[in-house]
Amino acid sequence: MHASTETLSIREAPALAEVREMVMGCMQCGTCGASCPNAFAMDYTPRQLWRLLLLGQEQEVLGSKTIYLCSSCYTCTVRCPRGLPLTEAMHALKRLAWERLPQTRSRAAFYQAFVAHIRIYGRVQESALMARYFAKSRDPRLPLSFTAAGLRLLRKGKLHVPDASHKGMLKGVVDAAMPKEGRT
Ligand code: SF4
Ligand code: SF4
Repeated sequence: MHASTETLSIREAPALAEVREMVMGCMQCGTCGASCPNAFAMDYTPRQLWRLLLLGQEQEVLGSKTIYLCSSCYTCTVRCPRGLPLTEAMHALKRLAWERLPQTRSRAAFYQAFVAHIRIYGRVQESALMARYFAKSRDPRLPLSFTAAGLRLLRKGKLHVPDASHKGMLKGVVDAAMPKEGRT
C-alpha cells in the first residue's frame, strides 16, 4: 500500500458505532454467510461477525481473520434481504483493525503486496507477487508453507518469469483509487 494512503486510511477510519449502524438491520438470516465464497476459511462467518459487532465484541471482531479474508466480491451485499452495505462494513472494519490493533497488521501484508504489485506490473505475476508478499509478511515460515503449492504450480507450468509488457498500465487507476479507498 502506498505510504500516504496508509496514513489517510488511519486518519479517516470510522468509529465502530458507525460500522455497527451499517449492520443494525441484520435479522441473522444467514444469507451472507451462506453466499460468501470465503466463509469456509473464516473464523466467523459474516453473519456471526455482524452479531458479535452488534453485541459490542470489539476485540473479537477486529481481531478476527474474517475481515482480512473478505475479498470484496460484493455477493453478500447483493444478496442481503435487508440491503445492508456489508462489503463497505468489512472495509471499514479493516481500517479500524489497522488503527486499533497494530498487532494484527501483518494480516494486511497480502493486500499491500497485491496492490503494490498491480501498480507496478499492471497484472498479476504470481512468482513476483508471492516474493513481495513473503518480504512484507516478515515471517520466515510463510514461504515454507507455500512450498508444496509452488512446486505443483511449477510442474504444471503455471509459474512464469515476470513479464514487463503491462508495466505501469494500471498505475494511474491505482493511484486514483487509493485515496478513495481511505474514504469509503
Ligand atoms: S444477509 Fe443481511 S440480514 Fe441476513 S444475516 Fe447477513 S447481514 Fe443479516
Ligand atoms: S464481500 Fe466479502 S464477506 Fe461479502 S461475500 Fe464477498 S468475500 Fe464474503
